[in-house]
Amino acid sequence: MAKKIGPLDIYNYLPKTNCGECGEKTCMAFASQLIERAVKLEDCPALKQPNFVRSYNNLKEMLAPSVKEVIVGVGDKSVKIGGEEIVFRHELTYFNKTAIALDVHDEMNDEELLARVRYVNDFCFKRIGEELTLDLVAIRSTSKDPDRFAQCVSKVLCESKKPLILCSWSPSVLEAGLKVVGHERPMIYAATKDTWEEVGRLAVKYNCPVVAFADGDMAELKSVVKALESLGIEDIVLDPGSHVEGKYLANTFGNFVASRRAAIWNKDIGYPLLGVPAIAWLSGEGAFKEAIIAAIMIDKYADLIILHTPEIWALLPVITLRQNIYTDPRKPVAVEAGLRKFGNPDENSPVLMTTNFALTYYTVASDIESAGVECYLLVIDTEGLGVEASVAGGKLDAFKANEAIKNSGIEKEVKHRKIIIPGFSSRISGDLEIQSGWVVFVGPRDSSGIKEFIEKKWVGLA
Ligand code: SF4
Repeated sequence: MAKKIGPLDIYNYLPKTNCGECGEKTCMAFASQLIERAVKLEDCPALKQPNFVRSYNNLKEMLAPSVKEVIVGVGDKSVKIGGEEIVFRHELTYFNKTAIALDVHDEMNDEELLARVRYVNDFCFKRIGEELTLDLVAIRSTSKDPDRFAQCVSKVLCESKKPLILCSWSPSVLEAGLKVVGHERPMIYAATKDTWEEVGRLAVKYNCPVVAFADGDMAELKSVVKALESLGIEDIVLDPGSHVEGKYLANTFGNFVASRRAAIWNKDIGYPLLGVPAIAWLSGEGAFKEAIIAAIMIDKYADLIILHTPEIWALLPVITLRQNIYTDPRKPVAVEAGLRKFGNPDENSPVLMTTNFALTYYTVASDIESAGVECYLLVIDTEGLGVEASVAGGKLDAFKANEAIKNSGIEKEVKHRKIIIPGFSSRISGDLEIQSGWVVFVGPRDSSGIKEFIEKKWVGLA
């Protein structure tokens, strides 16, 4: 999308009838939502009519993201990469999180190969209410033998629930893999200045996304991209080369940053970026260095990375960082407010209070669960702010906490009238007692102290 497009630019191409069929009250509101990508052009039925074909096409072009959105795979077995509009996250939001592939190769024995594929299938780490997963399997040809590669691809295809990347410098090896899995739209890695025509023709024949590669040479990368475009290929991914040491490492990230800025600020080769932190293993470094490189690449605009390590200690910081960067800065990460039960609380059980900031809620919930405390937890709607910030910002006060107590149904659940509030909200305790008629106890500042607080003080309080 052009960087400075505003709602009025969009509105000019809309039907301007304010019919409301898109779910928005006015066409101008719909225009604003289009820019935010909260709605799609197809949500306006009028734009599908023949007399609006030109407007629809104009809008489609205006709203196309600066970095092309590329889909690898098909249906449920697919992943979207790219589609970004901005360089800095706070300018809007990033839309498609960095996809993470784990590699396998065609000289692995069957047991090891299938174990890695299943590992990718099953990898799931729950954090702040979200399931963090791995996204693709990258199959490398280390044998350089087309038949062996095809056999390996066939085995992976049978087992994998994720889309695939076929990796070889040889067009004949890639073609052998595509004959097996071409119908599932794998990504082809990679076309170079020497192979762009053969690899490009494979991408056209199988309608697959293709990676353009040039090691550290941005002019060469651009010329490979232009050559692929000349074949009519639209789904291209850029690999400017990945290095893990010294000035080569600096060049790697410099090229990532330059590519993204060029795409968004100069409208130049606007395609997703691919990085290969797994390269750390080739230079004798292990999972630790690979995780560091992966983290920097995610931070510096990589839309897809290929990893080698399955070590959970190396993957967790990488996927956690990815989750943090790819949350929408326009919307605080919040959970639904209301009353929660932990275990089988009864009429004498403790009542605790917290806010609906997701990180706060899940931390408190996890501490309660691991401590085995049976209790009620009153979650206040603070618009996704944590305890300290919501008290300071007026999102959590005695009035709001009292309303939550009265509306939650907790007064029917317990016969006592005692509530434990977070330590950082101590300043509302007096007013809350006056307004609610409940006895308010100031609990620990850190929810890890809930178990001890309940054990030492609740019995006495109750
Ligand atoms: S459906 Fe189309 S014409 Fe109707 S209000 Fe929405 S944008 Fe306007």
